[in-house]
Amino acid sequence: MAQKLAIQGPISKKNLSLPKEGWDLERIEAELEDLRNLDHTRWEDGRVSGAVYHGGSELLEMQTQAIGKFSVANPIHPDVFPGVRKMEAEIVAMILNAFNGPDDGAGVTTSGGTESIIMACLAAREKAAAERGITSPEITAHAAFFKAANYFKIKLHLVSCPAPEYKASVPEIRRLINRNTVLLVASAPNYPHGIVDDIPRISALATEHGIPLHVDCCLGSLIIAFLKKSGFPSPYEKEGGFDFRQPGVTSISVDTHKYAFAPKGSSVLLYRNRSYRNYQYFLLPDWTGGAYASPSMAGSRPGSLIAGSWATLMRIGEAGYINSCQQIVGAAKKFETTILTNPVLNSHIGIIGHPLASVIAFTSRNNELETYDIADAMDARGWHLNSLQSPPAIHCAFTLPTAEAIDSLISDLIEVITELSLRIEERKESGDQSVHQSGKSAVLYGVGGSIADMNTVSQFAEGFLDTLYKV
Ligand SMILES: *Cc1c(COP(=O)(O)O)cnc(C)c1O
Repeated sequence: MAQKLAIQGPISKKNLSLPKEGWDLERIEAELEDLRNLDHTRWEDGRVSGAVYHGGSELLEMQTQAIGKFSVANPIHPDVFPGVRKMEAEIVAMILNAFNGPDDGAGVTTSGGTESIIMACLAAREKAAAERGITSPEITAHAAFFKAANYFKIKLHLVSCPAPEYKASVPEIRRLINRNTVLLVASAPNYPHGIVDDIPRISALATEHGIPLHVDCCLGSLIIAFLKKSGFPSPYEKEGGFDFRQPGVTSISVDTHKYAFAPKGSSVLLYRNRSYRNYQYFLLPDWTGGAYASPSMAGSRPGSLIAGSWATLMRIGEAGYINSCQQIVGAAKKFETTILTNPVLNSHIGIIGHPLASVIAFTSRNNELETYDIADAMDARGWHLNSLQSPPAIHCAFTLPTAEAIDSLISDLIEVITELSLRIEERKESGDQSVHQSGKSAVLYGVGGSIADMNTVSQFAEGFLDTLYKV
């Protein structure tokens, strides 16, 4: 969730009903320009963790052209828009290839990581119902997937991710597997800490029990796929990797709108073979409107985004992804190394686990310096890093823009921590015993853990979503 949301005043006025007559083109252009320039956290200057993964103007222009050429296209009508069908099939094939898919591998494109995960859970539930008669489906997962579980009434089991590695506990997964288990889940890497789970061992569990295993590479995207070719350590390379090379892995979600730099609204869900994919299809052979078949949640889908994604993959190519992986993971490594070796940083903050890709999470190492105070102070300097909870931590998902701003990120963090620790020293010297006021990040990400607190957070979150729809 965004840390702050300024509901901006109207540029001209609030539009609460359709204009009587349509606006002229100049007016539309001018208003769109104003809307784009509303005061915002500057992703353009590399100050936002995640969110905008590439942002290069030449690429954006090419995407806009590709989207423009296909703005009416809808893959629900493959006979009307055969080009979109071809591009979608090729996107799936290219991503499948990057994740070492087998020759008979399959996949679909979706609107994003959430839809990819939801469809993977649905397909697993349907498969277990059809083949094993499972009526009380359960997923063994260590995080996320709550939405799919909630929508599809699948029981979700959580496992802990114990320090110091912060990987999903494999013994706990083993203990939780039962006859109703329809899917195991692993992350490569997870969102909070950028940690890749022990996929070889979880794959062995999946094979042993004959249960599908989904690997969430939504965030890993083409960064994780190209680590090895970019000269970085790739997870579990000696033990057969993290993708379809592991025999137990049956599906992988890959957000093309993250580190494949495709326009927003683009993800790919890969399956080991068609027999897994077919369980997510929706078929209505006797519908009055004609025999109906739809591969995923949406009916009509934007062909323009398929065109934008296809053009992006073709434009950047393997060499381009290797190059951006080197820049992004290079920046993440520089950040990690600086935290581990700079005396100011090292004495106050520590890295969570051993991240291998683009996300680095850190937390305060002493109980006087509040992690959320660091987040607030960075916020005041125009940075938007992500605050995490249980335990309190901050992460930065490096992107091409943030990679370029790595040196000012590091120098600002050193300054912020120096200032905060000076203030703590001053308070101690003056004998100030007053209760320390936590910053607004802490309020927002309230970590009390009691049910009452979580209710408050839920109410706040509900209000936040409502606010998004205020004109
Ligand atoms: C982003 C992300 C998702 C969800 O993706 P959306 O594209 O935001 O729907 C799922 N898993 C991980 C690890 C992610 O980072």
